[in-house]
Amino acid sequence: MVSATFRFYEELNDFLPRARRKVEFTVPCARAATTKHMIEALGVPHTEVELILVNGESCGFERMLCDGDRVAVYPKFEAFDVRPLLRVRAEPLRVMRFVADAHLGGLARLLRMAGFDTLYDNRIDDPTVAALSEDEGRVALTRDRDLLKRRGITHGCYIRALKPAAQFAEIFQRLDLAASARPFTLCLACNAPLRTVAKAEVAPQLPPAVRASHEEFLTCDVCQGVFWRGSHWRRMKALLESQGVAAG
Ligand SMILES: [Zn+2]
Repeated sequence: MVSATFRFYEELNDFLPRARRKVEFTVPCARAATTKHMIEALGVPHTEVELILVNGESCGFERMLCDGDRVAVYPKFEAFDVRPLLRVRAEPLRVMRFVADAHLGGLARLLRMAGFDTLYDNRIDDPTVAALSEDEGRVALTRDRDLLKRRGITHGCYIRALKPAAQFAEIFQRLDLAASARPFTLCLACNAPLRTVAKAEVAPQLPPAVRASHEEFLTCDVCQGVFWRGSHWRRMKALLESQGVAAG
């Protein structure tokens, strides 16, 4: 019988039962179990893990566990520089694109507002989220840890916050999105690119007060929506600025 000792750090403890949080504990391991297999069996989605040390040496998800191994499991670091150590994934995704699960519509709209290509449909099921993540290299966003354990999902993000604005701030900080944001370039409803449109072209669709007070408009060629810098825009601009994004 192989048994190994585990210690999880920082927010990874949220996934553990109380008695196993922030302490070392020893558990029996399945035959030929890998680090990934055991970490997930203990309740922590592998997508949340940034660094694994076995007996003090960094290793990947495929490391086979041996009797007496001591395994330390870390989330994405905020305070420490782990670059000299081997991370569990070779490279981060270069262009951040997302697929949100069916419960994260508010967050999906905010990510689109910030210019991040985000697929969302309120009828999307978990296998489809996983397939889109794998096939299109999208980061899967969910509050369902079982979804992140699906085979094929290498990039995923477990969302802790409950409200869309807080979820947005959480992702922005965790994935360091501020530098790559392109505010107000995608339609919030369709995820399609927005383009500048002449006022004359959209004037018939505009409420009279908007027609009188705005000169610049954007439109979406998919839903034909027309957008201008009104109160909704100002609220979103404030949200972006709170995350360090200059939003015009
Ligand atoms: Zn649209």
